[in-house]
Amino acid sequence: MTYVVTESCIRTKYMDCITVCPVDCFYEGENMLVINPLECIDCGACVAACKAHAIVKVPKDAAAANSALDEWVRINAEYALKWPNITEKGVTPADADAHRDEERKRERYFSPNPGRGG
Ligand code: SF4
Ligand code: SF4
Repeated sequence: MTYVVTESCIRTKYMDCITVCPVDCFYEGENMLVINPLECIDCGACVAACKAHAIVKVPKDAAAANSALDEWVRINAEYALKWPNITEKGVTPADADAHRDEERKRERYFSPNPGRGG
């Protein structure tokens, strides 16, 4: 079981989650963050910190997870190994609020490129 960052984070990236994570397990892409499932200790602190409601607990029972969540589990695990660790809150994009509740952000904006980390 772990927590994963999902679509709502894309182009929103408020980064409040980073400030509450006790094990620094967030990794930064160009326009979103992911959680390393091997490092997350399942404390849940980041869920309430995220104003975009982007962080979701993955159910223990795999059958309870829907395919969309499965895809985010895969993306978090894959990109946590490719993107740099980020432990300090950076600058939120100026247009973050405008993109916060937008739909279909993954197909429109997801970027495999790494962020700067820090
Ligand atoms: S607080 Fe939420 S929206 Fe902001 S970077 Fe973390 S997961 Fe993404
Ligand atoms: S659940 Fe806890 S350990 Fe896992 S990413 Fe969130 S704050 Fe970090």
